[in-house]
Amino acid sequence: MLAVGMVRGETGVRSFDVPMPEIKQADEVLIRMKEVGLDGTDFNIVRYGLADIADGRNNIVLGHEGVGVVEDVGSAVKSVAPGDVVVITVRRGCGECQPCLLNQSDMCMTGRFTERGLHKLDGLLTQYAVDREQYVVKVPKAVTRLAVFTEPLSIVEKGIDQLRTIQSRLPWSCDHPNHGYLSLEWGGCKVALVIGAGPLGLLATSLLRLAGAFTYVSDIVPPRHKKAHLVRHMAAKYVDSRTKTAQQLVDFCCTPTGELSIIFEASGAAETALNLIPYMSRSSIYVMTGIPRGDLQIKLDAAQLVRQVVRNNQVIVGSVNSNRKHFEMALNDMTKVNLQFHGMLNEMVTQRYRLEDYVNAFGPRNGKHIKTVVEIDPWE
Ligand SMILES: [Zn+2]
Ligand SMILES: [Zn+2]
Repeated sequence: MLAVGMVRGETGVRSFDVPMPEIKQADEVLIRMKEVGLDGTDFNIVRYGLADIADGRNNIVLGHEGVGVVEDVGSAVKSVAPGDVVVITVRRGCGECQPCLLNQSDMCMTGRFTERGLHKLDGLLTQYAVDREQYVVKVPKAVTRLAVFTEPLSIVEKGIDQLRTIQSRLPWSCDHPNHGYLSLEWGGCKVALVIGAGPLGLLATSLLRLAGAFTYVSDIVPPRHKKAHLVRHMAAKYVDSRTKTAQQLVDFCCTPTGELSIIFEASGAAETALNLIPYMSRSSIYVMTGIPRGDLQIKLDAAQLVRQVVRNNQVIVGSVNSNRKHFEMALNDMTKVNLQFHGMLNEMVTQRYRLEDYVNAFGPRNGKHIKTVVEIDPWE
């Protein structure tokens, strides 16, 4: 069967003919792949030849945002059955550290984890995949056609989950009984700024808006760009950051309450990310999810930075990857996102390619690009 990935020592994508996988253990699930989303990490791996290929192997199959249909199950599998639409989690724990043993490999302490389509393990840009039941999550019927967004939404779920857990240190953040960080309507009275209106930024915006936060989203595209349109579709405000200094951007976002409760970085632009730190509000949180490439030296006032973080009880937190819990949260919230901001998720897909057309799927993207989806076995 056809699989798409990279060969050791090369840049660019290749196709391979690989054997059809088989169920070998009682807890395994055979999945016919339907769609796989591509993200910035995939494009960077291909462009810069960053594939992390397992020792003793010469290639790796890419793709980690996969949705498929269960074809067959091992004798011990209970949570899914043939015909179910499912998504597959990405990281497999190191088997040594406590977080991994507690099914929280997203917080792995040793770094010796593997990831499907990213680190050592074959990904999902292929026709069939086998995985263990604990890594396979059933998709509710209402969001079958949107399930390709589960993995990126799970990344954002984890970031927001971290932010709510940490900020629950502020039970007095306002005097409404339902606006505490651990309540469902936690976003009430909060102002958030999302940096970057790519897929992760837009998905973060959807969760912040669901929770009721005033949300501003900045990017470096004009206000007529589709990204800005999608921001407005969620009743969030788009800000073209090319026309504003960091100070002006924060002043603008602070208009409703005088404070900026949350900064959510989803662009991976290191200098932009650092430039906003001096403008954090008291007791506020800054969640970083974007991963910059390469090196960047900049000059900053270190004394001022440390003084500010200490004196203002500020939190700067990084968040990467996600575990099964976040996939389940993503599928649950996807139903709500789809109801409240109908059409937004579908509109994010700007490019669709068949698996056979993998060279173009990984090809140059124009300025209008938001999300690429590779169709392996199209929904009828
Ligand atoms: Zn671990
Ligand atoms: Zn409130």
